[in-house]
Amino acid sequence: MKIAKDTLMFILEASKSSAPDEFAGMLSATGEVITDVVLVPGTESGETSAVMQLFMLPNISTIGTVHSHPSGNRRPSSEDLELFDRKGMYHIIVGAPFNESSWTCYDNKGEQVRLEVVDYKFKEEEDNW
Ligand SMILES: [Zn+2]
Repeated sequence: MKIAKDTLMFILEASKSSAPDEFAGMLSATGEVITDVVLVPGTESGETSAVMQLFMLPNISTIGTVHSHPSGNRRPSSEDLELFDRKGMYHIIVGAPFNESSWTCYDNKGEQVRLEVVDYKFKEEEDNW
């Protein structure tokens, strides 16, 4: 699995601007590339509430989750692991200082997985004449 660089940048920026509150969303992919983040409405501050908001989402077509740990400790909590198990195969946790190396992707069992960052050409940028 891969993630579009622009999507990762969006996640990092959103997590940074949400801090000290958590940022949370669902991941959606185009083929093999994660290209979209579905924002979770009404996410409140605090680890538990962000996770609970994700639990309450209907089963839309997503492949995983993303949320931030403003503390910078990117280890999944027990609530996170429960969420991972229910909500797809790819789960990103972003931590302070919210740069390109301060994120980790986990699978549904909480094992770290490698996510390749790729330049993805979004439809809007295509030159279709
Ligand atoms: Zn968490």
